[in-house]
Amino acid sequence: MNFNFKKKFGQNFLKDQNILNNIAIKSEIDKETLVIEIGVGAAALTNKLCERAGFVLAYEIDKELTEIIADNLKGKDNVNVVFDDFLNRDLKEDVSKYNYKKIYVVANLPYYITTPIIEKIVNSNVNVERIVVMVQKEVGDRFNAKVGSKEYNSLTIFLNYYYEISKLMDVSRNCFIPAPNVDSIVVMMQKRDKQYDVKNEEIFFKLVRDSFKFKRKNLRNNLKDYDLDKILKVLNKYNMDLSVRAEKLTIDIFVEMSNSLSE
Ligand code: SAM
Repeated sequence: MNFNFKKKFGQNFLKDQNILNNIAIKSEIDKETLVIEIGVGAAALTNKLCERAGFVLAYEIDKELTEIIADNLKGKDNVNVVFDDFLNRDLKEDVSKYNYKKIYVVANLPYYITTPIIEKIVNSNVNVERIVVMVQKEVGDRFNAKVGSKEYNSLTIFLNYYYEISKLMDVSRNCFIPAPNVDSIVVMMQKRDKQYDVKNEEIFFKLVRDSFKFKRKNLRNNLKDYDLDKILKVLNKYNMDLSVRAEKLTIDIFVEMSNSLSE
């Protein structure tokens, strides 16, 4: 391929046909699915998605890829490639042009903006039932980190609040061109049938963010402006007190703390 890869756009294209096929198969896409892909690259994954999906709505920031993409998607009539920065799009409006039973995101993400992309999807008010994304291994490990581990943070809680998260596969750096200097994993996030019983989401998310604000500080110090008596009452039920750090608290405990603050 005659193309100058741009590091600033996180351009590491997948060349391993097995991995590409596996992502498309394990995503369980069918003709009733609208698939959103962020980062088309040379359309290697887009092609596999088109074969299975009802329609593929894809985004690519780099207009220099226009011809390559057009060549590689020749004959495919169920795809629209939007050449724009995904982070600047109104996703709800883009998606409103299509009418499919299910909406999935399937993508090999540009790693430099993994978190903003995922936050945008989750906050978009679009009912994305499933997200299957290739991400840097360390970042993926954080998505479903166990409580108490050093990877466990506010993003873990944010994602697990909405989605059930599992790892689909490990992917070696050698499966890409050019090879990045990190390994990758493919993660699947499936929207929960039953949501957590949170009385006030704004209070819940603020509490989680503030609790993790300074990683080395305990709750007493991170939550100075809160009603600490109410928080302590919940912690005591779990044999903890305000000297605990946020990484020791499960989502259920955060839910209970935030509900007690919402009363
Ligand atoms: N899907 C292709 C593949 O698997 O080979 C390419 C994946 S590559 C890791 C990420 C792609 O995202 C690149 O083509 C890059 O140009 C594109 N990209 C980077 N930032 C973007 C943004 N803000 N909006 C849309 N696409 C972006």
